Amino acid sequence: MHEDIKLYAILTFGCQMNVRDSETIKGILENIGFCETEDPAKADLILFNTCSVRENPERKVYGRIQQYKPGTDKIIGICGCMVQQGAEFEYIKNHLPQVSLVFGTHNLHELPQLIERVMLGERVLEVWEDKKDLIEGLPAKREKGVKAFVNISFGCNNFCTYCIVPYTRGREKSRQKQHILEEITDLARNGYKEITLLGQNVNSYGKDLGTDFASLLKAVQNIDGIERIRFTTSHPKDLSEDLIQAFVELPKLCEHLHLPLQSGSNRVLKLMNRRYTAEHYLNLVEKLRQAVPDIALTTDLIVGFPGETEADFKETLDLVKQVGYDSAFTFIYSPRKGTPAAQIKEQIAEDIKKERIYRLLELQNQISSDLNQKCVGQTVEVLVEGLSKTDTAKLTGKTRTNKTINFQGGKELIGQTVLVKVTTGKLSSLEGIIEGSVL
Ligand code: SF4
Repeated sequence: MHEDIKLYAILTFGCQMNVRDSETIKGILENIGFCETEDPAKADLILFNTCSVRENPERKVYGRIQQYKPGTDKIIGICGCMVQQGAEFEYIKNHLPQVSLVFGTHNLHELPQLIERVMLGERVLEVWEDKKDLIEGLPAKREKGVKAFVNISFGCNNFCTYCIVPYTRGREKSRQKQHILEEITDLARNGYKEITLLGQNVNSYGKDLGTDFASLLKAVQNIDGIERIRFTTSHPKDLSEDLIQAFVELPKLCEHLHLPLQSGSNRVLKLMNRRYTAEHYLNLVEKLRQAVPDIALTTDLIVGFPGETEADFKETLDLVKQVGYDSAFTFIYSPRKGTPAAQIKEQIAEDIKKERIYRLLELQNQISSDLNQKCVGQTVEVLVEGLSKTDTAKLTGKTRTNKTINFQGGKELIGQTVLVKVTTGKLSSLEGIIEGSVL
């Protein structure tokens, strides 16, 4: 069975951490002789790398899997966060016989052995609880281009009451600084110019190793070939003075911070177990802007958390106005089974949640447009990433403040940093005219 397997397709759901895991899975599969296809119909092995943060992607995964009948000659596999929830694992085991391979984020490195067993005819459903040590040196097939993502820690210790991640990804573990620096040095050698450091909470990086995030950033600054450093995600309770200072001292650290607020109401923040107040958050914003006046701030906001009153919601709107975010990811709260927030009785009616998110979006869109229009006339540094998706006659790239900018230019500029004068500010991007190269 499956002796002639050659092609695999991987469908990735969810966050950047999952995208990075898929790169590792691809690297492992190609090391054992598989080739990637974009077309699942042609693939012998189809892997769904799942997310469990929201319910929608879960439903999508099950919908896609139902397309394959039990007895299919394809190997259908599921991995990622979703399978690490006991109830989902049991559902797959008992109701989706066409799935012959299940593994979690903690036994991803075992993939060659697991696949071998499946190819010998076994149905392999194995999810590890946690692992003591992080496995280093796994291969990765990365997206070609100028930017790469590097994990610096896995898991989370925070237990925000709406979030399933600490239950699926386990407790926070930091990678050794030396391993991270070696990986980035290697990426620089291979032509990558921008690095985004990834973790559920990068601000607490190193607490388990006796080091800290700011000193990791200083070390990355010294790697030749890397021109830009970014990171995500930050938790406001762990954002240190040293990190704020790093924005001042490290020229490669881009002037953009994604700092999830979630709610502007202290009562709701408490219910969420976020462990900071609106005042603390505003104080951080003030310090950041004193240190780096033109820093761009983006955030995550949840609307309709259980118990959220109209007055609480207005506090969120107020805070959004006060901070003036460049952009925001806005979410309607949806209960995740197994989290404390799902047990709270005062769940908010769907029509109220929708009405609130429209009001929030209207406000945020106005702020984003205004801030983008304020950029008109400025000359900005842009790392050219490729052709614009919406107009292939143009190039696209990001400003240091992480805004997308499109402009006319030749393909030879891809990978270079250029100076672009902003001519138009739109809701979610800028337009500009190239002025020259940055040496
Ligand atoms: S910090 Fe909170 S929201 Fe983020 S992963 Fe951890 S528990 Fe989830």
